[in-house]
Order: sequence, then structure tokens, then C-alpha cells
Amino acid sequence: MSECSVLERILERIDKACLRSGRSPQEVRLLGATKTVPSEKIKKFYHCGLKLYGENRVQEFVKKYEDLRDLDIEWHFIGRLQSNKVKYILGKVTLIHSLDRESLLEELEKRAGRLGIVQECLVEVNLGGEGTKGGLVPQEVLPFLERVFQCTHVRVNGLMAIPPYSQIPERSRPYFEKLRNLRDSLESALGIKLSELSMGMSSDFEVAIEEGATIVRLGTVLFGERD
Ligand SMILES: *Cc1c(COP(=O)(O)O)cnc(C)c1O
Repeated sequence: MSECSVLERILERIDKACLRSGRSPQEVRLLGATKTVPSEKIKKFYHCGLKLYGENRVQEFVKKYEDLRDLDIEWHFIGRLQSNKVKYILGKVTLIHSLDRESLLEELEKRAGRLGIVQECLVEVNLGGEGTKGGLVPQEVLPFLERVFQCTHVRVNGLMAIPPYSQIPERSRPYFEKLRNLRDSLESALGIKLSELSMGMSSDFEVAIEEGATIVRLGTVLFGERD
């Protein structure tokens, strides 16, 4: 199948999930998760109309960013971010999905300050209690956001989560629901708006949309299996 028909089919599935749950397809953004995907392939999807991509690895990001800099791509960073690599991505990504600790917040505040920008971020939440994954546990998010309020160069506009992997999409639903409920309770406790919910991957994005996702991060269903 051509890249454009693959993309078209995914957009149809997104539309249907929106319709089922009484949402407008405009509320949900499709992000192409590009880890291991070569620049040439990204370019093909770009010409089919997909303009938003997210990378996990700083080194891969820097290469693809350079390869594709003539295109009007919006880049996000979605992987674990080491503080000493912040400098390579700042000013190049519009959203970092994986803000998950104080030391990273401090580095972002310092570096974004030097560039005179405000870096938008999502706080990553670890809902499954998995030690191998990044993310704050839900109880840590409120005090963390209070720290973020003291920053002038970092803004948080939502939450991100990666539920424990399952081939059965319905198994992710309780986690997505939890993330949405956490968002709602933080909004009312702090009197702020956290509009973005980055949740849902190839195996469970339709369920995520039904539960309120505003960004779905898709790799395999768009670009094929990674080896
Ligand atoms: C790899 C990755 C994805 C995409 O995963 P697929 O299951 O291939 O769709 C989404 N989000 C993050 C953070 C990833 O690392």
C-alpha cells in the first residue's frame, strides 16, 4: 500500500473513533512517531499531508531535523530526555511530551531562558507503576506543577502517558481514563487549563480517542514494524 493510502486509512479510523465518542476530529492530532524511520520515508508521509512528527532519540532527531529542514514539519520530542541533551533540541521542537523530573525542569528553564523562549511541555505520568518507564507517579504531579509555575520559560499544557503494553486495546482504557481524571482534578485544584492529553499508540489509539486523547502517537501502523 502507498504511504498516502496508509495515512488515509488511519485518518479514517481516527474520524470514526471521534464520531463514536461525540468528538470532533479537529480535536485530535496525529503524530508520526519516527524512531528508526528514515528521513526519506518521513518525507513521503509529509507529502501525503502528515506534518507532525515526534522523535525519541536526540541523535536521531538532530539528523532528521537537518535532513528535513526545508519542509514545514512540526517536531515534538516524545522520548526520555537526558538533561545534558536538552541543548540539542531546544528551539527545534514545539512540544516536549516527557517532562518527568525536577532536574530536567531546571535545565529546560535555564536553557530556554538563554534562548529567550517559552518551552511548552507535557508532564509524563507513570500510571502502571512500571519501574522501567519514565514519568511521575500521579500523586507527584500536583507538587511538580507548582514548581513549574515558578518557571518563566517552561509551560505545561497537558499530560502524557504510556500504559503497560498489551495487544488487547481495551486493557489500556482504564489507564487512559485515569490520565483524563487526573487532568480534570489538577485543573480544578490548581485553576489552570491542561488541554493536551497525549495518549494512544498503534495498538490502542482508538480507545485513547474515546477517552479524550488530543494527540495520538503512532509508529508501527504508519511506518511498519521496527526491527
Ligand atoms: C515508539 C513510540 C510510539 C509509537 O509506538 P507504536 O506502537 O509503534 O505506534 C509512541 N510513543 C512513544 C513515546 C514511543 O516511544
